[in-house]
Amino acid sequence: MSEFCFAPAPQPMISISGSTHFFPVRRIYCIGRNYADHAVEMGHDPKTSPPFFFQKNPNNINETGNFDYPAHSHDVHHEIELIVALHSGGSNISVADAHQHIFGYSVGLDMTRRDLQAEMKRLGRPWEVSKAVEGSAPTGPLHLVEDTGFIDSGKIEIAVNGQKKQESNLEMMIWNVSEQIATLSEYYELSAGDIIMTGTPSGVGPVQKGDVMIGSIEGLGELKVSVS
Ligand code: MN
Repeated sequence: MSEFCFAPAPQPMISISGSTHFFPVRRIYCIGRNYADHAVEMGHDPKTSPPFFFQKNPNNINETGNFDYPAHSHDVHHEIELIVALHSGGSNISVADAHQHIFGYSVGLDMTRRDLQAEMKRLGRPWEVSKAVEGSAPTGPLHLVEDTGFIDSGKIEIAVNGQKKQESNLEMMIWNVSEQIATLSEYYELSAGDIIMTGTPSGVGPVQKGDVMIGSIEGLGELKVSVS
C-alpha cells in the first residue's frame, strides 16, 4: 500500500440506476461536431470533417443537479449528449467489436464556455479552458446495457425553462458509437471507466443563472440541472 503525502482526491464516479454500486470514471472523451445540423450551425461542412476528440477532466462529472455558472464567460452553452460508459477497452478495437466494451448509457451535458472556445479557435489554442470546466459534465445515472440493449437511435432533447432548445435523434450522429470507440482506440488505449460524450445536435445556446435545464434521451430518463 502506497503512502501518500496528502489524501488523494476522491474517485470521480457515476451512480448506476437500480444499483448501490458506482461507476468509477477514468477519462472523459468528447467528440466534436457529431451531428450534421450542429456542425453546420457552427460553420463547418460535416462531410469533409473527420472525427476529432477532446477531453474533459474526470472530476468535471457532476451529479449534484446544479451547475455553478463559471467565471470568465458571458456565453455558457448547454450541449445535450448521450454518454457511453465502458467496462473494458484496448487499442485498435474494430467497429464490429466496439459494442462489446459498452457498460451502459446516461443523459449528459457538455457545458461549454462558448465565448472562450471561439477565442481559442481563433488563436489556434487548445479548447480546455472552454470545456474542462468545474462541474461541466452533469450526468444522470447510468443505465446498464443489459437493461437498455445497444442504443443506436432514439429521441434526444433538452428544454430550458420549459422551452425546447435541442431536439434530434441519436441516429443522426455522423459517427455512431461503435465508430467513435474504434477511432478513439486508434489514438488512446481505452479502459474500463472511460466514458464518451457522443456529441450534440443543433440548437445549442446560452444559459443564465436561475435557468433550469431538463434533458432527456429515449429510454434513459431525464436529467434536471439548475444553473446557479
Ligand atoms: Mn459537446
